[in-house]
Amino acid sequence: MAANPHRAWAEINPAALSRNLARARVLAPGARVMCVVKADAYGHGAAVAAAALADADAFGVASLEEALALRAAGVTAPVAVLSGFFAPQQVAAMREGRIDAVVHNRRQREILRAAAGRRQARIHVWLKVDSGMGRLGFAPDEAEGELHRLRATAGIGEVRLMTHFAAADGGDAAARDFTESQLRAYRPLRGLPAEHSLANSAALLAWPDSHADWVRPGVMLYGASPFAHRTAADCGLAPAMRFCARLVAVRMLRKGAGVGYGPLYRCPEDMPVGVAACGYADGYPRLAAAPSKVAINGIVTATVGAVSMDSLSVDLRPLASTVRVGDEVELWGGTVGVNSVAAAAGTIPHHLLSALGARVPRTVISEVQ
Ligand SMILES: *Cc1c(COP(=O)(O)O)cnc(C)c1O
Repeated sequence: MAANPHRAWAEINPAALSRNLARARVLAPGARVMCVVKADAYGHGAAVAAAALADADAFGVASLEEALALRAAGVTAPVAVLSGFFAPQQVAAMREGRIDAVVHNRRQREILRAAAGRRQARIHVWLKVDSGMGRLGFAPDEAEGELHRLRATAGIGEVRLMTHFAAADGGDAAARDFTESQLRAYRPLRGLPAEHSLANSAALLAWPDSHADWVRPGVMLYGASPFAHRTAADCGLAPAMRFCARLVAVRMLRKGAGVGYGPLYRCPEDMPVGVAACGYADGYPRLAAAPSKVAINGIVTATVGAVSMDSLSVDLRPLASTVRVGDEVELWGGTVGVNSVAAAAGTIPHHLLSALGARVPRTVISEVQ
């Protein structure tokens, strides 16, 4: 097969996205699913992801612009802007685009009321409750009053309740206690006559008590584990992205030679070192000294030295003499999980996927080759 002409690229597998959504439905059988496709579907491309996730009951995004982009791509399902809105000008666009709003402060209700025109489409609202995240939302004891006030406000359609977990991904006792305290804080509200949504990916996978009426998975749809202590395969998820770069140089370096900036790496012996055409401007984390895994021709090896803006160096010792300039380096995907790269970089897969560089072309692949 002729090599593609890209220096670095991301292969997106829509079938994996659909399978991960099916997995979410199996795990939360009674719940509807709001698929979170913010940040350009965690770097996968919002239009491609929304098409692959066409079975979603709704989509969640972070900004009005992202919501309108889904509408422009032909998405007709409900779309909610999870971080809410703050300006009166945004309301007309939300109404026009049939975009649902998250309301987390009183001022937003005033904006909605002021913008309510007669005989216009009503805006559906998710009333956000802060059950312990300490970020956006009303205190639990304010929720009932706010629910009634929103329902009495002109221009507002359905009102549903939501909250968000701060530590549902944690495997230790402190994290579990924290999630239990959030569930306790929210429990009195479960009796309020409204639909409820609590769970992100981690809670969907680990906290069945939180499933309620709607779940809101993000990262699991893309085939990454939300947990540091469980792999994607353990969670039954299939990676939807394979991030690759071309090997553009194969060098034989002498014992003691430096590699890259610093130089933060010195060759411990005479050794072959490859240069892959991908750097931190493409979204690969700027690992300084710690190595991270990569795979070449199915063989796992590691980065050496600091990652540069446009390139990174790899240890070719495990590859013997079969490796050639032009070979494909898998940075993350089916052989090297994005979770392992995130762990090496001291971050989470959400960060790496959503920070994939704008200059990296996304190519949509089909599984049957
Ligand atoms: C991003 C987000 C999610 C999805 O979180 P994951 O950890 O990716 O599953 C769910 N709910 C809200 C409010 C969010 O902002």
